[in-house]
Amino acid sequence: MRRFPWLLFFALCPVPRGAEAQELFDIKPVAEGVYAAIARPHRPENANSAIVLLDDGVMVVDAASAPSSAKDLIEHIRKITPLPVKYLVNTHFHWDHYWGNAAFLAAFPGVQIIASGNARLEMQRMGLGSLWVTRLTKVELPEAFEQWKGQLAKETDPKRLQSVRDRMEQWGKANEELKTMPLVLPTLTFEGRMVLHSASQPVEILALGRGHTSGDVEVYLPKCKVIIVGDLIAGDTPFIADVSPYEWMHTLDAFEQLNFETVIPGHGDVMRGKDGLRLWRDYFRELTAQTETAYADGLAIEEAVKQVSARLIEKFKDRFPPEFPQAVPGNVRATYRFVSGEQE
Ligand SMILES: [Zn+2]
Repeated sequence: MRRFPWLLFFALCPVPRGAEAQELFDIKPVAEGVYAAIARPHRPENANSAIVLLDDGVMVVDAASAPSSAKDLIEHIRKITPLPVKYLVNTHFHWDHYWGNAAFLAAFPGVQIIASGNARLEMQRMGLGSLWVTRLTKVELPEAFEQWKGQLAKETDPKRLQSVRDRMEQWGKANEELKTMPLVLPTLTFEGRMVLHSASQPVEILALGRGHTSGDVEVYLPKCKVIIVGDLIAGDTPFIADVSPYEWMHTLDAFEQLNFETVIPGHGDVMRGKDGLRLWRDYFRELTAQTETAYADGLAIEEAVKQVSARLIEKFKDRFPPEFPQAVPGNVRATYRFVSGEQE
């Protein structure tokens, strides 16, 4: 159960008007033969992807949130190069990063889909038999639609009314696609580190440690000092659900040791340097320290969430995007469960 409400969280976030344009990605060259596909705002939430040209094929990192979104990404790739996609990496098991796998397999039948062993296990556990999809289409979306219908009945502001209508239209279309979508699992898993020996662009596929999930994968391009990190750090706000922030910080330490200049995150814009990584670590440090103190002082979970969130929002709100305050209580609640031993 714990794992699902964030789908609703994404579902309820506003979508800017006009964002339903057909093209779902902005393609940005970040180094020679390396492109970031930055997801435009859309429902269901799309994640970013990266396109890397190798000697005789293409590697794509993350597959978008549905086959229809992945098709849009594939069209962009075909404009860049006639070479086939040979490798598709899934950075972790969250739906917005791998539900487009089926479209890649259909377009490039020989493609190897790479993930860490843990990410594949999580996909099997959450996705096999479309369990996850079924829950979303049968429970969460109907609940969200009821909520939106209620909003439509009450809302008087024309802009907000339109935003609710757009959301219902986009999710309505997605709902139909999700019901029949085949879930395609990775075909190749690894532990620790795997190297693609492409002369023009050597690639290190890494599992630096538990972070955003138990099976995070990072793709490091040492020649051009670019790293593609999924949601290990992102341009949006930290979301803690599957792994403790203590392990996440530890993995960020390993990440910092790498010699990189450009980060392609799973959400938000391309980042330069190590400032983004340090901001996330500072935030986790403060989050864990404050939650530990609240727990040691005997505060019950909801009181701790209230007090610690207020302090964290005050301290960090200017350095994160505007949605940050909505994400903080969930982070404190999750951290409290780790601190109190309720979750391991
Ligand atoms: Zn994501």
